[in-house]
Amino acid sequence: MADKRAESVNSDSDSTEDVVGNVNKFAVVPSGYSGKPKKGHLIFDACFECGNLGRVDYISDLEYDLFIRPDTCNPRFRVWFNFTVENVKTDQRVIFNIVNFSKTKSLYREGMTPLVKTTSRPKWSRIPTKNVYYYRCPDHRKNYVMSFAFCFDREDEVYQFSYSYPYSYSRLQNYLDNLEKKNYDFFNRELLALTVQQRRLDLLTITHPKNLKKDDNNGEKQRLVFITARVHPGETPSSYVCQGITDFLVSNHPIAKVLREHLVFKIIPMLNPDGVYLGNYRCSLMGFDLNRHWQEPSPWAHPTLYSAKNLLMGLDRDPLVQVVVALFHSLNLEFYIDIHAHSTLMNGFMYGNVYEDLERLERHSIFPKLLCGNAEDFSMTNTNFNRDAVKAGTGRRTLGGCLDDSAHCYTLEVSFFSYQTNSSSQATPYTEEGCILFEASNDMKLGRNVARTFLDYYKMTGLISTKPSSSIVPKAMYGRSRDRTDPINDSKITYDDRYFSRSEHGDEMQRSGNCYNLNSTNSLTSVPSYRIQHRDRDNQRDRY
Ligand SMILES: [Zn+2]
Repeated sequence: MADKRAESVNSDSDSTEDVVGNVNKFAVVPSGYSGKPKKGHLIFDACFECGNLGRVDYISDLEYDLFIRPDTCNPRFRVWFNFTVENVKTDQRVIFNIVNFSKTKSLYREGMTPLVKTTSRPKWSRIPTKNVYYYRCPDHRKNYVMSFAFCFDREDEVYQFSYSYPYSYSRLQNYLDNLEKKNYDFFNRELLALTVQQRRLDLLTITHPKNLKKDDNNGEKQRLVFITARVHPGETPSSYVCQGITDFLVSNHPIAKVLREHLVFKIIPMLNPDGVYLGNYRCSLMGFDLNRHWQEPSPWAHPTLYSAKNLLMGLDRDPLVQVVVALFHSLNLEFYIDIHAHSTLMNGFMYGNVYEDLERLERHSIFPKLLCGNAEDFSMTNTNFNRDAVKAGTGRRTLGGCLDDSAHCYTLEVSFFSYQTNSSSQATPYTEEGCILFEASNDMKLGRNVARTFLDYYKMTGLISTKPSSSIVPKAMYGRSRDRTDPINDSKITYDDRYFSRSEHGDEMQRSGNCYNLNSTNSLTSVPSYRIQHRDRDNQRDRY
């Protein structure tokens, strides 16, 4: 097998420098084969919104090397993938090796696995841990490779694989269009700027309409909470958290009503729409990591950041946003929270700033502590306050340095994979619903829990009187015990058990509802076992 790779793949071509575009309905056939692809000659495609797959090398009928397309104009970043496979045979078994990740540290070490869905099973499932391997591979310059075994179970289906739950620009636009149609008097959507590729930079305002009328406030400035997400386009969980916050704030939940009464929320749900659309992981269309350019954003190179910062600093003279800025000046910015997803740590957590002024530092630590009390998946251990030089151009650091003393600037991180609570040693994967749906009788909703923490904070400061309680889920029914049963996001059930059930006979995985046949003991995995080395994850962990 190793010889086969040497013959079929020139060693120089192992770099990703020649990978610039996405594969487009690319049929992979054995070398020397000519003619139309036959059933079973897999056809790969990533020419769709948020798609990413740059190259496929045929190794054998069972095995394919896959190359992530680097971020546009920036070959350094190769993490996000999202592609489809079709023209499969029923029960066709394959190994896919993703061979050119730009990061070595990864949640794959902690059991994270790729997601899959198909035409007739459109809900994303995680591939079982036992079919996924992450290891240093001698065939690829000792790069870390993620391999997974998969069995295509239905001939006419299109299968889609992705690094994490996608959340596209179009999905956001649909969500916002639907919100607008509801004609809430407390919700407003504005166009703050257009991207280089002419996509919308949306700005949402959520507050009781009286708060935006100067005369109604007795000369007092209204308190403003400013939230942004998706400056890093591959960090899709940040969009789920941001939508969770928005869903809660526009709801008729008593806490949401009180928050709208007392505070003005402004949200930029997607700071890097072009990067999101293009399927980048970290950068904008032009290859900039926008979260390193907050200090001096350029109107032509970083237009979304430029507009967002001008709005925040009240400097903008562009007639398009002058009205918005004028309104902004009548507000007192108290919170800036930029939402990201983390590729190596578990749970939700925050980064804050360090201040010489101890009283300010103390005030700065209050919000994360309150959030920790409200969200079982939030980790104070991972939370830290720093002034690292490498983070100097981030929104949190830059704005924390130039906004008023009363403003708290944080980065909110949510794991790409899972959370672990004090009451359990087992990690539970986040799901789409886990971040978004606040209606579910479950308190693992990070977005909702962030929103309700503002109630606790402003109760402490005396702005809001003691009612209502910030408790959303009656604790008698749903305490902080992991023994509860929740039909939507049962924290006792790991993804393996939920989607892939083990048969009574050995290791064979049987289809159960929304899942796929996979077998770890047959020839599928034994054939390429020279490459997929079963390792003790704990031993491996020490070496990173
Ligand atoms: Zn990020």
